[in-house]
Amino acid sequence: MTAKISKSDAEWRKQLSPDQYAILRRQATERPFSGKYVHEKSPGTYACAACGQALFSSDTKYDSRCGWPSFWDVVDGDHVELREDRSHGMRRIEVVCTRCESHLGHVFDDGPRDKTGMRYCINSLALDLQND
Ligand code: FE
Repeated sequence: MTAKISKSDAEWRKQLSPDQYAILRRQATERPFSGKYVHEKSPGTYACAACGQALFSSDTKYDSRCGWPSFWDVVDGDHVELREDRSHGMRRIEVVCTRCESHLGHVFDDGPRDKTGMRYCINSLALDLQND
C-alpha cells in the first residue's frame, strides 16, 4: 500500500492552481473540450496532479468524444477508489486518488466493448502526463 498524503485545506490551496483546487479538492468539473489532455496522444503515464501517484497509461487512453480525457483502465486498482456520487441529481461513480483522496472524475460503463467496457472520464487538470 502506498502511504497516504494528508494535507490541510490551506496547504492544498497553496499548492494547487485555483482551477485545480476546485476540481481536485471540491469535485468541480472542467468544461468539456477545455482540458489540455483531451486530444493528447503522446506516450506516458498520467499521474495525479495533486500527489504524483501513477493513475492511467496512455496505452489505455482512447477517443470517447465526451470532451474529457478517457481511459478504459487504471494502471493499478489500488491507486483509485470508486465512490457513489449522488450530486447534481445524478447517480454517478466518482473516481478518487487513494493516495491523497483528490477527486479525479467519474467512471461510466459505456467504454470500449472489446476492452474493459469502462470509461474513466477524467479532468485534464487532475492529471499530470509524465512522458516515458
Ligand atoms: Fe493523488
